[in-house]
Amino acid sequence: MNLEFALIEKLQAILGKPSPRVIVGIGDDAAILQPPTGKLIATLDAMVEGVHFDLSFCTPQELGHKALAVNLSDIAAMGGEPTAALVSLGLRKEIPDSFVEEVYRGLHAEARSHGVDIVGGNVTGAREISIAITLLGQVQGKWLSRAGATVGNKVAVTGFLGASAAGLKGFKRLGKDALAAHHEVVQAHLLPQPRLAEGRALAETATSAIDISDGLANELFHLAEASKVGFLVDVKSLPISAATRKMAGLVGEDAVEWALQGGEDYELLFTFDPARQPELEKRFSALKSSFSVIGEVRPANERVMLKTAEGKTKPLVAKGWDHRAKR
Ligand SMILES: [Mg+2]
Repeated sequence: MNLEFALIEKLQAILGKPSPRVIVGIGDDAAILQPPTGKLIATLDAMVEGVHFDLSFCTPQELGHKALAVNLSDIAAMGGEPTAALVSLGLRKEIPDSFVEEVYRGLHAEARSHGVDIVGGNVTGAREISIAITLLGQVQGKWLSRAGATVGNKVAVTGFLGASAAGLKGFKRLGKDALAAHHEVVQAHLLPQPRLAEGRALAETATSAIDISDGLANELFHLAEASKVGFLVDVKSLPISAATRKMAGLVGEDAVEWALQGGEDYELLFTFDPARQPELEKRFSALKSSFSVIGEVRPANERVMLKTAEGKTKPLVAKGWDHRAKR
């Protein structure tokens, strides 16, 4: 902890009383936590101004919220339950304390809705604004990984694809004011919903999983590599919402391309034994959630293939999303 005392007090007031698992929380040299009863999960993800966010589109609160959500999504992809977060902020000199407080309001809102304690933080001077979060979690019993897909499994995704890309393109092409009428894609981009409950349901039933941060195509290649398999994905089965298609029409782009290559959907991509589909459907309907089967697991030598709308089969190319390049 490396903040002025007055700011620490303000942040403590924003965060409120931590859960009983926190023995020493924010404001000391380090946090002390009760260890989990199951296995400990740790993950880290950072967001950098100009690469991952643009403050002309998002508020500091939304930034805090999203920075935690993207880390929660990684815990979801392992089938775990998040517990505690440590936050590192990089700030330009002229950024006031009120910005930090706003970021913490967003962090707190998202942390509270998922039972996470913010247990430590650091602020350092930097040339561009950044927020890096170390998120801890736990898993009881089974967990998920990228390895485990086998030939004959089905491959599926939660929710819808391409909505975050639709929101981002809308901001860039139409401007923030014009987006008031496009709430769904704006929310998908600014405040993604990590699929934690779905991840825990999948831990019991799926053979592999990954969260979709860099676009479906990229994540298919990650799963293929880790599981040593190939995929055949049917383009007609990709779940794309009406709101995403509408935005694609407005800005003259292809919603299918957004679904395949657009990043930051934070849905889960997973594989499962077809015999377990009824059980999966039951678990998802109990969560008032849904998934879409998009294809099947094939042998590794078939690589990652796409069945086009015309019924042809062609190799899927992952254009991905280069974290080192500015968007
Ligand atoms: Mg991930």
